[in-house]
Parts: sequence; structure tokens; C-alpha cells
Amino acid sequence: MKLEILAAVHLAAVRLVVPVRLAAVGVATATFASAVLAAPAVAQGLPIATTPLEGLRLAAGESIELELDAPLPARSLGLWWRGDLGEAWFELLDPNGAGLGVQPIVAAHDLAPDVVGLDRPAGAASVSGLTHAYGGPAAGARLTLVGPTTLSGLTVVWIGPGATPLQPTPLPVAAGAGYPKPFIYDRASWGALAPQCGVSYCNTTHVALHHSASSADFQASTWSQAAANVQSIQAYHMFTNGWCDVGYNYLISKQGWIFEGRAGGDDVKGAHDGKNCGSMGVCVMGYFHPPVNNAPTAALLEAFGELAAWKCDQQGIDPTGSAFYAGLGAVEQTLYGHRDVSATACPGDSLYAELPALRADVDGKLSGGVGTSGTLKGVLYDATLGIGARIAGGTVALSDGTFTTSASDGYWEFPLPAGTYPVAATAPGYRVAHSSETVTGGDVWESLGLVPSPGSPTLVVTPLAGSSFASSTGASPSSAVWLGYAGVPGIPPVPFGAAGDLWPHLATLQTVYLGSVGGSGVLNVNLQVSGAPSGLTLHLQCYVLTAGQARLTNGAAWQAP
Ligand SMILES: [Zn+2]
Repeated sequence: MKLEILAAVHLAAVRLVVPVRLAAVGVATATFASAVLAAPAVAQGLPIATTPLEGLRLAAGESIELELDAPLPARSLGLWWRGDLGEAWFELLDPNGAGLGVQPIVAAHDLAPDVVGLDRPAGAASVSGLTHAYGGPAAGARLTLVGPTTLSGLTVVWIGPGATPLQPTPLPVAAGAGYPKPFIYDRASWGALAPQCGVSYCNTTHVALHHSASSADFQASTWSQAAANVQSIQAYHMFTNGWCDVGYNYLISKQGWIFEGRAGGDDVKGAHDGKNCGSMGVCVMGYFHPPVNNAPTAALLEAFGELAAWKCDQQGIDPTGSAFYAGLGAVEQTLYGHRDVSATACPGDSLYAELPALRADVDGKLSGGVGTSGTLKGVLYDATLGIGARIAGGTVALSDGTFTTSASDGYWEFPLPAGTYPVAATAPGYRVAHSSETVTGGDVWESLGLVPSPGSPTLVVTPLAGSSFASSTGASPSSAVWLGYAGVPGIPPVPFGAAGDLWPHLATLQTVYLGSVGGSGVLNVNLQVSGAPSGLTLHLQCYVLTAGQARLTNGAAWQAP
């Protein structure tokens, strides 16, 4: 029996390397003889290959370790099997056979018959896992299984690198009534595969909190890595779980980046807790449960709060209450964890413990109500780094010239009469962001993400007391130029909107009037240059108008790198 297994295993490019107890091999009912590497294929641009293995039974205390050669350079590895789970973990291996990080394997969830898609029979998998390789593709993987376990249909899916997603510039969130929808990176931005089936819709009454149960997800340190992980999660759901598309409606990285999940837009029915109809499934990417215990970041919690607040406000959901959940057929808390409705550890102990605070947070965000006045408030943050990357010393301005400076934690606020207010914000080195908010009473939160403009010039102007002043730039670029500013007491901001902060296609000397100076101070003029040809030199000059006389105060030159 043992020799038979090993021979078959070798044929299949699978090595049984450490039979911790030989008896384990002797009793294993493995029939690896049928193990055949499926030829690598390219699924919508993503290389995919599967290694189907038949089955195995280990008694308590028995364990085996399998090494598998990757049939393609692998960025991610997903696997599943039918049966039960003793203890199991796996890791990708680099070309030298070094491990790239051990990933525990968990009991699969989300596998109710109505969410299983086209690729395999309903209810087939009960154990699953997904891990990623950073810094280059993996050449193999090691799988360790500890009994007692009986598994069959073990299938390993190798996911090659797709096109590397490039972070798009977040566009200003569209103004509208209600709590603003946070900026969400859409499917095109992370390189989604086309879904393999149609969509259906439910009236959203609940928000579900999940984790991805992948510690490798939590190790992403760049936007491109996080986006590639979303790619792999989708491929895993489609080619390992056999679903039509990524199951979750939204996914959040530890940096607070929010990614669109299942295709179909707002209120599309996802596949995330086995109930689904009426629940918006939000997956936080990480492993928030023993033995990994990733710690939820402030950025991901804030992102979840903003996302949930938007949906609760839109649908009239009480974030601290309960409601009838159609998919479940019972009353459930409106903001719940996956484990509240299914037998699963998801979203993990450390994330589940945040749910009461998250409910209170969302309730606070929505506590506006109707009144005659309220407070418009929020934080400034770097949109490329997530809502946790606060920007201190930025300027937030209203169209009437009122402005304030963000505090050390990025916080800012305006007490305001009820009304609708265009808002602009910037900081040195960042582009201007716009929004529009309606204050009806209580607190209205609007956290503003700024996009940096690295390499753009900052010109410091020292105007004369009592004078008005302007900034000008003489250049012949074929690029668009935005004007931002950092607030200085006594200097009102540039009127924003039509021409105040956008100089399209500068061809000649341009002048933009910035306003009157009530006192002395320093004005930081931050020119944001988009698409400047390399080597282009912008000459910036500022002058002060006093009694009809223009007096040059200082200037600076900046050359595009
Ligand atoms: Zn879950």
C-alpha cells in the first residue's frame, strides 16, 4: 500500500515527504493514483491550474506532509476538500524550496447549496484555504495534515499572477442626499474576472462582517498587493469554491481600502453567509482568529463604519437594532458577524469583538436627525494609504470662505446652520478634493481622502499686510494644472469651483486671484501638475497688488522629473 501510494504520488508531481508516523501511511486510504495535474489554462487572463487528489484518512495522532510542484508560477494557492478537518496548514514555497509563510486551513463556510455555482456539485467542499506569495511567484507548496481527518476530493488550485493592478486616482465622491458612500475601488480597478452567471437583488436589511481567514491577505503592504489579493480571492471563489463570482459584496484591506466585490452593483445578492438575501457581505482581509490573531487596524474599522453607515442611512437600517433577515428567515441584529448565523469562527474572535463598538460608531455617524443646526466634521487622510493615514495641517474650506485646519489626528469640524455646503480640502503636496454635504442636525461626518501629487512644486508667498495678492505661473505645458493652498489665518481660500482651482492647458502666463489679505502671513501655493512632460519647467511667480501697482514678491521654478 505504501509503495503504491508513493509511486502514484511521484507521477503526479506530489511528494509525500514526511510521514511523521509510518503507520499513518499504512492506514491511509489515499488513492493518489488518480492524481493528475490539469494542464494550466488561462481563465480570462489569469493562469489557473488544478491538482486534484483523491482522498486520505488519518487517525488521531497521525500526520503527513505533502510537497507539490506548482504547474505554473503561482501567486496564490487555494485548496479545498470534502470531509472533516483535524489540523491542517499549508504554505507556498519559493524556487529554492523555502517556505513563504504558513497558513492555517479552516473549515469552509459560505457553502450552502444556493450559493454554490457552476463548477462542482452543491455542498461539496467543507474545508478550504487560500494563501499568497509576495515578492515573486512560488514554485511549489507544502501541505501538512494531522489526523483525525477523512478527506476526499482534495483539490489544489494554482493561481498565476494576473496583470498587476495599478491604483487609480480616487474621484471625488458624488454629492447627494444622505450619508456619503465612501470611495470604493471598483471591479475594473482590481482586474475582476467576468462573472459566470447572472445576478439577483434583495432589499438590504443587514450588514454582515466576515474575515477572509487568510493571514497572507493581511501581509499586503501596497495597494497593488491588496488588489491582487482580491483578484485571487475571486479566482479562489470561482475555481476552488465553484461560485459564479467573488462571494462578498465588498472587501476591506487592513489599510482601509474598500474594494467592490460581487458584480451587479448596489444591493446585489452576494454569496457569503449561506443566507445572503438581504445581507450586504463585507469581508475584512486577514485572519482575526487563533492561531493567527491579526489585530484589526483603526483604518479597517473606520472603513467598515463608513461603508455600513452609508448603507444603513440609505436603507433606513438601525445599526444598533434587529430586523427580519429574509435569507435567514428570522430576526437578527442588523450588523452581525458571520458566526451569528452560521456554524463558523468567521469573522474571528478579535474582529467579532469589535462589533458592539462598530454598531455604536455607525449609530454615532448617523445620529444627525433633523434640526436647525449641526456639526460638519470628519478627518483628512491620504487616500492612497487609507483612512488611518491622517493628514495634519490640511485646509478644509467652505465656499463662503470659512476654513479650518485639520488637527494632528486629521480631525476637523464646522458648526453650521442646516443647509448644503460645498466643501474643498487640500494640504501641501496633495490635490484638492471636493465634496458637498447637507447638514440637517447633529453630526454629519465627511472624511475626505486626498490624493498626493508627488514632485509638484510648493511656492511659499509672503504677502504684505493689508494688500491683496495673486499667484501666477508662466509656462507652456500641455498639461492641466490644479491650484491648491494651505490655510493661513487671515487669508481666505481661493474660490473653488469653476476656474478657481483648475487651469486647463496653460499656454501663456496665467493669473489666478487668490483673495485679499487681512493681515500678514504666509501663503503656501501648491500647484498640482498632472501629466507634465518630463523636463517641463514651470516658473511660478507671485506678486502683490498695492494701490494698483503689482510688486513681485518671490518666485520659484519646478521641473517635472
Ligand atoms: Zn464569513
